[in-house]
Amino acid sequence: MTASHSENAESGEGTQDEASAARPTGSVKDHTKVSASQPTVLDNGTCPYCAAVFGDECPGTKEHVVGRRFVPKGKMAEAWNLIFQACEKCNGLKADLENDISVISMHVDPTGIEPADAALMRAEIDRRATKTLSRNTRKPVSEGEKPLVLKGAFGPATMTFTLNMPPQVTEKRLFDLACFQMLGFFYFLTYRPLDRRGNWWGDGFHPLLAVRRSDWGNPVIRWFEEITKHRREILHVQTAAGFYKAWIREMNDKPNLWAWAIEWNQGLRLVGFFGDEAEAITLGQSRPTIKTKTIHNDGKRIIRMRAETAVEPSDDHLFDMIND
Ligand SMILES: [Zn+2]
Repeated sequence: MTASHSENAESGEGTQDEASAARPTGSVKDHTKVSASQPTVLDNGTCPYCAAVFGDECPGTKEHVVGRRFVPKGKMAEAWNLIFQACEKCNGLKADLENDISVISMHVDPTGIEPADAALMRAEIDRRATKTLSRNTRKPVSEGEKPLVLKGAFGPATMTFTLNMPPQVTEKRLFDLACFQMLGFFYFLTYRPLDRRGNWWGDGFHPLLAVRRSDWGNPVIRWFEEITKHRREILHVQTAAGFYKAWIREMNDKPNLWAWAIEWNQGLRLVGFFGDEAEAITLGQSRPTIKTKTIHNDGKRIIRMRAETAVEPSDDHLFDMIND
């Protein structure tokens, strides 16, 4: 397991006044690679997620950016993680998201394309699904979790389709969790020990797509890989024995837009941008469109399917280390 990140936090960047600290922005420090089997622990004085200042009214609580129970049991032991203090509210919100999404992201794909550790994953899913009560849906996560698999004609060929996500996990919840993790990493990258705080990037979080393993080769993911592969990488995380991957890359010379990618439990990938909204929208407009087909529309509910495209392992470079 390796983690690369900016290490020279001591060099600092000067202090910010309180106004900018509430909505902080700032540059990211020079990229340095490290290998680590120990977590990085920050003694921070503000919540990395909402910028609240800790005190009697708002105590900090211990927060793991990669939740220890988010990955299969034991995989975070002796693995790199980022640990800091977060406010109770943010900590709770993130734990709620991790609770559902952990199980979903481990779900072995119905198309037969399985993660490397399929047997382990099945055991883990069984163990959790029976006892995990989704705080989102208030029912066991195993109920209604099975993706609907449909066969149908799509253009000239007959293919198998799967609905994009199990019904109870909306895409928004996936992106919310991705946003939490990126906020945590960015705070770390810009952290100043003397101030006991880091920054956020300013402006918005712009997710593009969340896809199951059976669709990792889809045109938008391919396009995203192409436009980001020569960029400067400022963070590259591979931890939890390969069950958690993430990177952040700069999208321009004077960074105000960053690209990010995350892989959860060898089952889900998410990609997008954060930073300058106008630039993100302009960039996003050049992405290819994914064809969808409406298979059900009764006026109340519309179900659309899209063709899924898997990627061959030998052709899968989204999480290759760059700038080596
Ligand atoms: Zn908070």
